[in-house]
Amino acid sequence: MAAGTRDERIESHERNPKWKNHPLRIEMSECINCDACLRHCPEQFGAIFNHGIDVIIVPELCSGCDKCLPVCPVDCIYPDPDWKPAAEDWWKHPGNPDDPYH
Ligand code: SF4
Ligand code: SF4
Repeated sequence: MAAGTRDERIESHERNPKWKNHPLRIEMSECINCDACLRHCPEQFGAIFNHGIDVIIVPELCSGCDKCLPVCPVDCIYPDPDWKPAAEDWWKHPGNPDDPYH
């Protein structure tokens, strides 16, 4: 099915419709850019990226598995029930040579 694999989600910019949990978001005003969350996001999801000086979660790639939550030292990762599609320039990271999950 479409969006069933990470590559398909990157291609289509769609979330897997089977995922029940909301995606998470990083509150940038609280984040200390330690990258701990990025290293703990499972590679089949691979949703967290360095984006300039920000650390971002691409909601279409985030399953809401919560693996990133306990490792954040400042608890600045929150469920995002009102999530909006990722900004177009966020998509330049997944699937490209700088993709940390490849
Ligand atoms: S909830 Fe899971 S998939 Fe989403 S960013 Fe955190 S670790 Fe990655
Ligand atoms: S673990 Fe928390 S503080 Fe560290 S980069 Fe991720 S969101 Fe920011």
